[in-house]
Amino acid sequence: MSLQIYIDGKMYPKEDAKISVFDHGLLYGDGVFEGMRSYNSTVFRMSEHLDRLYESAQALHLTIPMSTQEMDAAVYQTLKVNNIVDGYIRLIVTRGVGNLGLDPYQCPTASVIIIADKITLYPAKYYQDGLEIVTASTIRNHPAALNPRIKSLNYLNNILAKMEGLKAGCIEALMLNAKGEVAECTGDNIFLVKNGILLTPPIDAGILAGITRRAVIDLARESGMQVHETNLSRHDVYIADECFLTGSAAEVIPVIKVDDRKIGDGTVGQTTKSMMVKFKALVGQ
Ligand code: PMP
Repeated sequence: MSLQIYIDGKMYPKEDAKISVFDHGLLYGDGVFEGMRSYNSTVFRMSEHLDRLYESAQALHLTIPMSTQEMDAAVYQTLKVNNIVDGYIRLIVTRGVGNLGLDPYQCPTASVIIIADKITLYPAKYYQDGLEIVTASTIRNHPAALNPRIKSLNYLNNILAKMEGLKAGCIEALMLNAKGEVAECTGDNIFLVKNGILLTPPIDAGILAGITRRAVIDLARESGMQVHETNLSRHDVYIADECFLTGSAAEVIPVIKVDDRKIGDGTVGQTTKSMMVKFKALVGQ
């Protein structure tokens, strides 16, 4: 049976899951989304994801036409009809159908789309050997222009940086903010380890408040580690003992080289390894 996609309360086979070309999600990237994981039929931190989704919508003055409880139920329904136990869920809310003008108030109702699919993980070698990343010249969106806390359907800022990474042979790229400080990667948050302390940029650096980031900070503190959410420069990255990235899709993934500089001794560090194990345990894997 083909994959069933949820659109506005109904299930459609993948081939028939279509939206209007007048949807402002398509015309203008006007909408919000979430990427979540299901582990053993439970969605990891769904309430945090839904809080972020509804807050992103609030920032865009976009009314989601269902409650968080209904959304929660719709996500589980989509997993169930597709028999997905361990998978990835893409939750999308578009501004809906309007006319060719920008005016969002001409779009009467937002559309809700839920796609649940088997997860395609990054190749195992990246988790064993670590990633090499480069700094992109594309600066992360200025929070006063389009705040990166809004997980909007317009990901061009990240896509431009991602292309720079790919051109350099890297699947991820580091993005700096307009002040030249470390922000985040194109689809992941970044952490450093220096002298046994875990360092990560604060939300104010202009980043997405990652759910995995939050979980990793809590896990580290529970294990007695000091965690500092502090502004970081590229210099801090280059002289770090360890580096890793976090995200719903990637989970915890080590970085061993940045801009051709080895991080630490250029192998996956002990703290990173222990965070990978702790995170796996947290999600019951
Ligand atoms: N930063 C960006 C730009 C992202 O798109 C994502 C999610 N893919 C993350 C960080 C990680 O966030 P989360 O842990 O909530 O998936």
